[in-house]
Amino acid sequence: MAEASTPVMSQYQSIKALHPDAVLFFRLGDFYEMFDGDAKEVSRLLNLTLTQRSGHPMCGIPFHAAKVYTARLLRLGKKIAVCEQVGDSKAKGLTERKVVEIITPGTATEEEYLEKNTNNYLAAVCVQKNKTGFAYIDITTAAFYATSWDTSRMAESFARCLGIASPRELLVPESLYAHAAAAKTLASFSGIFVSRYPDWHFAQEAAYKRLCAALGVISLKSFGLLPESPEVPAAGFLLGYLEKNSALPVSHVTGLHVFSENDFVVIDDSTRRNLEIAANLQDGTMAFTLFDAVNYTKTAMGTRLLAEWLFFPLKNPRVIRERQEQVSRFVSNRSRLEKVRAILGAILDMERLSSRIAMEKAHAKDLQALRGSLEAWLELRAITDDGDFSGIDTADAREAVKVIDSAILREPSALLTEGGIIKDGWSSELDHLRKIQNNFNDILNEYAESERAATGISNLKIRYNRLSGYYIEISKGKLPSVPAHFILRRTLVNGDRYTTEKLSELEDDLLSAGQKIIDMEKQLFIAVRNDLKKYTRFFQSAAKECAYIDVTACYAHAAVMHKWQMPLIDESGAFTIAGGRHPVVEKNLPSGEFVPNDTALEDGKTFALVTGPNMAGKSTYLRQNALIALLAQTGSFVPASKAHVGVVDRIFCRVGASDNLARGESTFLVEMTETAHILRNATEHSLVIMDEVGRGTSTEDGLSIAWAVSEYLLETVRCKTFFATHYHELTRLSHRRLLLLCMDVRENGGQIVFLKKIKQGSAESSYGIHVARLAGVPAPVLERAEAILNALRRQAGETTAAEKALDAIPQPEQPRLPAPREPSLFSDEELILDEILSCSPDTMTPIEALTLLSRWKKSLAGR
Ligand code: ADP
Ligand code: MG
Repeated sequence: MAEASTPVMSQYQSIKALHPDAVLFFRLGDFYEMFDGDAKEVSRLLNLTLTQRSGHPMCGIPFHAAKVYTARLLRLGKKIAVCEQVGDSKAKGLTERKVVEIITPGTATEEEYLEKNTNNYLAAVCVQKNKTGFAYIDITTAAFYATSWDTSRMAESFARCLGIASPRELLVPESLYAHAAAAKTLASFSGIFVSRYPDWHFAQEAAYKRLCAALGVISLKSFGLLPESPEVPAAGFLLGYLEKNSALPVSHVTGLHVFSENDFVVIDDSTRRNLEIAANLQDGTMAFTLFDAVNYTKTAMGTRLLAEWLFFPLKNPRVIRERQEQVSRFVSNRSRLEKVRAILGAILDMERLSSRIAMEKAHAKDLQALRGSLEAWLELRAITDDGDFSGIDTADAREAVKVIDSAILREPSALLTEGGIIKDGWSSELDHLRKIQNNFNDILNEYAESERAATGISNLKIRYNRLSGYYIEISKGKLPSVPAHFILRRTLVNGDRYTTEKLSELEDDLLSAGQKIIDMEKQLFIAVRNDLKKYTRFFQSAAKECAYIDVTACYAHAAVMHKWQMPLIDESGAFTIAGGRHPVVEKNLPSGEFVPNDTALEDGKTFALVTGPNMAGKSTYLRQNALIALLAQTGSFVPASKAHVGVVDRIFCRVGASDNLARGESTFLVEMTETAHILRNATEHSLVIMDEVGRGTSTEDGLSIAWAVSEYLLETVRCKTFFATHYHELTRLSHRRLLLLCMDVRENGGQIVFLKKIKQGSAESSYGIHVARLAGVPAPVLERAEAILNALRRQAGETTAAEKALDAIPQPEQPRLPAPREPSLFSDEELILDEILSCSPDTMTPIEALTLLSRWKKSLAGR
């Protein structure tokens, strides 16, 4: 290596010091190298070989493959600073190096760095005393949202917004960390690149001004914002960050959508997870999710909109019906549906393409992609103008198509530096230069002819090779006739090579024409691209229209494919479903194997208590009801032969003792926190799904809690509830709003068949041993279990101890069960063990150690 290692390393360190939060790609020859901490981390993340340079850990990637590695690092939530050699690398001494680009997960705009079908959000949050503002923007599509919540409801609202927006990058004020609930919520979300900024970056007034300037308005009233609105600092800082820190133009951001959680069905973070709306509980991917079961969209814009509809179900029956009408028009005209879907298949991501134009990042292939999509959109328009879409005119599309079609080649170069972009006939100057280039052979022949005539050398030839360019070749025998103005270039065995002043001149003309053509094509292309900027709003509207048509056509396709029906939607409070199915389970079972089930919360019944053995289908039944309500309120048809859904305002779905160990909390504590949340937030119009709540603790505890929670939901909240439990003692509850349901089971000569059919009544037994047999538990164990069970039953005189105790439960009007023991989640031993593990004897003074020891002793002896 030419450079001494020490100066390079100190140059590296001084540059790295300016970018402590980024992985520094340090250009050394043909590689980007990483050192020290970066090298260790990146080699682990990307599985690269870790080597050494001057005693520093090092790993590297070839510069031409940098995009692949950058994309992977961005996906892992890393920020990257690209440091290039800017000076002359052949000059003596240390090559000058500079960071030329900073790429963060939320500001990446290159196609390679983005997921095709999902938004790439950059978010900001700003905590104030009473209200917290949250905003998120996808600069690649210009989607821009803001909302706010009461700071007292931080944990649930913050988690809900982070879960829905799923931002790649989050900007927070330093003071956020002083707010325990905010910091804790944030810590529970992994994979987000978080950067902290001093609070003054979120100054209200400056943010308001910036928003007004960017959106081109003097007041934000039309967006639903006042100067003092809590959304303003977060939204304003986002735009400032994009413009200043990332040097990204935001001119294509023309709207800001401010929403409040009450505009939509509230689906909190756990419900979103438990219902597996867009990510499954196993591995977090989209497989086996509701999204996956309904997604038949054809365009990237439609796919993104579908996710939005599923995350934000509507509450207004009128708006829901508008969507339904669109879907049913497609369902009733299948050939039109197929035509529309075929055309949609030809429409590319117009949203991102138009943003690329606005950000001056589009290349010529992008423009052709846009042209093709606009032509398809015009076709789409021709067959869908019966539906009332965005009401935009087709003239702009035709104009834009014409410009692109006349200026840009059909198969243009994706680079700006090698020509091959502009069509003939677009610029006369360019055509002229091209003529020179194309006619160069004629010009050369003419010149060769004149020299042949002047010198009398009849076999004089002008030739070309890459090393020496154009030259005149004279064979050995004719050398004496060479005139004085021929300049010798090279002597060979068969003859000599010459040039002349005239030949050099011609060659220069040609070269400069080539370069001029390249430069000119670039200028012309940029002019066309800039000209297209004026259609940005139009492109965005057309893209929105495509997305809307795509999602409604996708709903229609799902309805046709899976025999879904249009639900009746109103504000009645009804919840009646005939032949309901779970869309995901049904889709993944062989056709016809899913057993449809009815649901009827009517005649004043609000609470369905579902009992039945394990594996009987309780959880599936509960979820299918929630998913049908959710789908219905997004405007979709539903997996049922008939459905009447009175709109719900919130959906809650809780699963007992779900494994939340990864989040470092006791599962039972989580279960109870979530139960408390439902009891406090559900209204009469909410839909609550409780699956085995109370399972995370001992039987008596669990049963008592399940009992009391049920009573509270029945009597006080009165929401629509589906409550599955394996405590069949609970069926002794009696209330006029209670509906007892159970899963039908048939016993047949010792064999038990789960019919997966819901029926009125309550389950007799829990068939646990039967399930153990299904699972392959060895026969001796099963026999022994059966013997023990029989003995227990005999002992209890066919009544379990729990059931006996329940007979003594006071009625709700009277004082409840005796107060439970003081709940202690951890034993003293556990707490002390934890202290031992976390203390550091190396730094402790002897006195401190003794004090600790004596405290532990006291605490253990005092039990
Ligand atoms: P439970 O909650 O009662 O233990 P689950 O709802 O988890 O039972 O269902 C157990 C199994 O039965 C699951 O594998 C599920 O796919 C299948 N299943 C559930 N409901 C049905 C149904 N209606 N038709 C067909 N299979 C079903
Ligand atoms: Mg279950």
